[in-house]
Amino acid sequence: MKNRRLFALTLFVLTSVKGWAQPQGPAQPKIIMGDSLVHDRYSLIFTGNDARFDSVTRQNMINVFFTVYPQMVDRFNKNSLTKVGIFIDTAYKAVAETGNGVARFNPAWMKRYPQDVDVVTHEVMHVVQDYKDGEPGWLTEGIADYVRYVYGVNNKGAKWFLPDYRPGQSYKDAYRVTARFLLWVEKNKYKKIVDDLDKAMRDGKYTPRLWVKLTGRTVDELWDEYAKHPALELNYK
Ligand SMILES: [Zn+2]
Repeated sequence: MKNRRLFALTLFVLTSVKGWAQPQGPAQPKIIMGDSLVHDRYSLIFTGNDARFDSVTRQNMINVFFTVYPQMVDRFNKNSLTKVGIFIDTAYKAVAETGNGVARFNPAWMKRYPQDVDVVTHEVMHVVQDYKDGEPGWLTEGIADYVRYVYGVNNKGAKWFLPDYRPGQSYKDAYRVTARFLLWVEKNKYKKIVDDLDKAMRDGKYTPRLWVKLTGRTVDELWDEYAKHPALELNYK
């Protein structure tokens, strides 16, 4: 665990100095914008290779980080990294991804959807999660969107909503579908479901039996019940 963190930190320092480490591709993106920001015990290294990245969006992303990250660390994992990187990468074509303490964002997405600043909330939850390899990806992503719902600051403004239940969905759909299911379980079955699943995954102790231990039902049984009575009152910030 400690070694793992040290490794992550080392990589982080290397990537913040030399640019995003890309195993494939001809060229390393050059850092041409950069800032190191510190609030209380947390540092954010905001860098990238897009000199035209909108300064308002940049500031909004920074504000989101310093608003949500301390809350997520307090609730889920007090041993989370205190230094996190955001890298704006013109070479990156999906929306965002996170590894080794650095969240990478596609500037084209942020330009098109400048209200969608809670992608930061989702991504930096992956830093807090710090799960072992092999944990179910659908649950990792479901928890990150659960957290976006709970702590996100501009979901309403971004028109980001959790989809109503409809037949054909599965808890393994990940992201928002799983997030809504987790909220339903939290409300109807076990209040600390996300906290306990999150901790077990970080400790490498997650098994499907954990759902039974925590709620008395298998995840499939819970989903069946959810499918029959999916109503849920939701309030977006
Ligand atoms: Zn994610």
